[in-house]
Amino acid sequence: MEASPPTSFNHVAAIPYPARGHINPMMNLCKLLVSNNNNILVTFIVTEEWLSFISSEPKPDNISFRTIPNVVPSELIRGRDHPAFIEAIMTKMEEPFEEVLNLLDLPPSIILYDTFLYWAVAVGNRKNIPVASFWTMSASVFSILLHQHLLEQNGHYLVKFSENGDERVNYIPGVSSTRLAELPSFQTKRMMQMLLKGFQWIHKAQYLLISSIYELESQAIDTLKSKLSIPVYTIGPTIPYISLKNNPKLKTNNSYIEWLDSQPIGSVLYISQGSFFSASSKQIDEIARALCESNIRFLWVARNEASRLKQICGNMGLVLEWCDQLRVLSHSSIGGFLSHCGWNSSKEGVVCGVPFLTFPITVDQPFNSKMIVEDWKVGLRVKENVNGDVLVKKSEVVKLVCEFMDLDSDLAKGIRERIRKLKKICWDAIGDGGSADIDLKALIGDIITYSSKFTHA
Ligand code: UDP
Repeated sequence: MEASPPTSFNHVAAIPYPARGHINPMMNLCKLLVSNNNNILVTFIVTEEWLSFISSEPKPDNISFRTIPNVVPSELIRGRDHPAFIEAIMTKMEEPFEEVLNLLDLPPSIILYDTFLYWAVAVGNRKNIPVASFWTMSASVFSILLHQHLLEQNGHYLVKFSENGDERVNYIPGVSSTRLAELPSFQTKRMMQMLLKGFQWIHKAQYLLISSIYELESQAIDTLKSKLSIPVYTIGPTIPYISLKNNPKLKTNNSYIEWLDSQPIGSVLYISQGSFFSASSKQIDEIARALCESNIRFLWVARNEASRLKQICGNMGLVLEWCDQLRVLSHSSIGGFLSHCGWNSSKEGVVCGVPFLTFPITVDQPFNSKMIVEDWKVGLRVKENVNGDVLVKKSEVVKLVCEFMDLDSDLAKGIRERIRKLKKICWDAIGDGGSADIDLKALIGDIITYSSKFTHA
């Protein structure tokens, strides 16, 4: 049952980019807003298709859904035609979004939009509603994309890096020296141009909200604060950590949690690829054979390949189609995370204190891997060679995995000590009076101020 509007309301209209890695953090932010102030009401606007995916997930009554038609044909989503998918999002969602706003019983006092959906700023400006831009990648990636002109001036482009991948870029404000191949990249120039429009429009938004922790990327965040004329709030990891905080020992009857319960502490390698891109089948086979040979315990989430992998991997672990990743990462049996380094997965691993083996594919994942390995020093790369499509052989993976999961090796001990410290830094930031808590409360204060102006207008 949907909540009826409170008499004194603070109404947020939220429009996420239609992909799992964007919808989850925006929903988590909305849940944080309403859990901090029960006079906040959120209308969460998604395509009809996405509503069918998320409507059964638990949410507070103060959050209700509205839909726009499926502007992105499903075959584009499932067919992985990424450029066409983006073209449809950028050109076909604005009008139905505005229509939904027009039909709301309570006009929103603020619009929360995914930074890539630049057209939401135009809608907000037209309707005189303040807009808060929500960035679901790292602050460092934001700084790189904001300074794309510097890359161009230096003859470096964000479209495919097949050559000179080892060349270092060290002129992006707030970002430490990075190999060219690990900068964020786009499949085509057209895609890059469309996605970068969000950065041209950011100056017309009223806020930038960063889904990160200040202490993890303080230089990049300070840079953004100094370069942008709007308030920049670093509102924390926007993962559902509230569930961990409230129920650290939550009982579930999932068989994989029961299996984890029966494994030695820190002994299991958790493996997960992204919801959109994954490594080649050949590469996945090499990793599976390596697991079989190394006798390491593992829990592998492999959406489309679970049954094939079950046959290759041996019987030291489980292969699943899907799991509750945050709950798995927070289990004491998990000792490592072989990850594609999506930003959500990267934050979840850090918040749970699990060290990484990184296997990034594209977009911001190679840069997240760079931060994990070079800046935070809490992980190792599975693939060191960034030039071209190099297959990492089974023998290399066996050597790496065995050393990484050997809790007595100096290498493993050093990495684990650093991730423990980083985990504490994150929990301090989220806790009362921490950097994320302060910024989140400031945002809520601003929403309430806007609403009162709106109510009295
Ligand atoms: N996830 C999950 N179960 C799985 C695999 C993924 O709950 O079996 C969640 C994961 O916790 C994360 C999100 O899906 O919150 C994936 O986002 P991320 O940014 O890491 O990667 P993307 O899929 O966007 O590339």
